[in-house]
Amino acid sequence: MKYYILFGPPGAGKGTHAGAISEKYNLKHLSTGELLRNEIAAGTELGKQAKDLIEAGSLVPDEVVEGMIESAFETIKGYDGFLLDGFPRTLAQAEALDSILLKKNEQVTAVISIMIPDELIRQRIAHRAQIEGRADDAKEETINHRISTYHAQTEPLIDFYKKVGKYHEVLAVADTIEENRASVMKLVDSINN
Ligand code: AMP
Repeated sequence: MKYYILFGPPGAGKGTHAGAISEKYNLKHLSTGELLRNEIAAGTELGKQAKDLIEAGSLVPDEVVEGMIESAFETIKGYDGFLLDGFPRTLAQAEALDSILLKKNEQVTAVISIMIPDELIRQRIAHRAQIEGRADDAKEETINHRISTYHAQTEPLIDFYKKVGKYHEVLAVADTIEENRASVMKLVDSINN
């Protein structure tokens, strides 16, 4: 099985490009943010616990997302692998992922990193706010907190995966989704060949 990590700051386009990658390589796209938003919409206990944290732009506890990922690995069948989007987001989550996979005799295949500068993060999120209406895209304060959380807690993962030779990055700063998608697919194809 392949275990790809789709990495990048909020607004980089992970969700936008995940469909094309997962379709081409028969991967199950697993977005922890999307799974959490589904829990909130369904009014589950987990959703209730996650709601305030998400709307403040903070991360939910590591154990919550680790549990969601591990159970998805156990229950979802019929794919050649998984495309993890928005997970891992902390070093503790990256280490937990390694041990979840080790138990299965598997390992992370590669990290596909979609990079954009902070200024573009704000523009992209402002644009998405008008289209998707996500609560955590609406407030300046929340967006700032997500950007600083990314730099403080998630960015260290770049070195973590560089050290094991699994980190692959593409700059997605073109004006159109199509141009950025072409660059992302070129990177993914190069990893697979
Ligand atoms: P996303 O859709 O990936 O931007 O995630 C939206 C929000 O869900 C994040 O700002 C976090 O509050 C929460 N979230 C998603 N994935 C994780 C994760 N791996 N660890 C902790 N919190 C997460």
